[in-house]
Amino acid sequence: MSNMNQAMVEKYRNDFLKEVKANVEEGDWVQMCMQCGVCSGSCPFGPYWDHPPQELFMMIRAGKREEVLSSNSMWMCTSCYNCIARCPRELPITHIMHGLAHYADRLGLAPKEQPTRKFANRFWDNLVKKGRVNELKLGVSLYFMNGFIEGIKTAMAAAPLGMGMMKAKRLSPMEYFGGHGVKDSKGLDAILKKARQIEDEKIAKYNS
Ligand code: SF4
Ligand code: SF4
Repeated sequence: MSNMNQAMVEKYRNDFLKEVKANVEEGDWVQMCMQCGVCSGSCPFGPYWDHPPQELFMMIRAGKREEVLSSNSMWMCTSCYNCIARCPRELPITHIMHGLAHYADRLGLAPKEQPTRKFANRFWDNLVKKGRVNELKLGVSLYFMNGFIEGIKTAMAAAPLGMGMMKAKRLSPMEYFGGHGVKDSKGLDAILKKARQIEDEKIAKYNS
């Protein structure tokens, strides 16, 4: 068990709803769910998931911490916003789904091989370095995210496409050694710092 997960188990004991309200983006909305099932019925993928949104919210209130945080389901949300548009209680369901996925990942409970988790972490790490995505570095890291052999095979299969992009001046190999960033890197740092501060204040509010 990761240190953070252990600390949260001890901190919230049997109150998983309180833990979600304090630590998950828009998590304080979960208590407003009236279990009508409209979100799950509207979700184009819900029938194929282990736990569609309405079920996840019920499980949170029932204290099923491990089952919720290790679920694959919230990682498969495509942000189509069907559920939000139809929820009679106006819950920000999409944001809660992503918030749950992010929190599970921070605790080390998300499924390790979940492809969206792998992509999301690589995308974020790439983005925050300079405030702009370095597509070449991101692409290469995705090729190799499932191992060296698969990476080589994928890179070779994509080589003609890459050559074509270079010819058309849509891709420069030199991007790999630097790449563009935002002009105001200090401003970017300030935004990220402020976002962390807002999160910390929210956690402190629920724990006071
Ligand atoms: S549509 Fe809204 S109120 Fe109904 S189950 Fe889904 S989240 Fe709950
Ligand atoms: S936003 Fe996500 S949870 Fe909501 S309907 Fe679309 S895929 Fe389903």
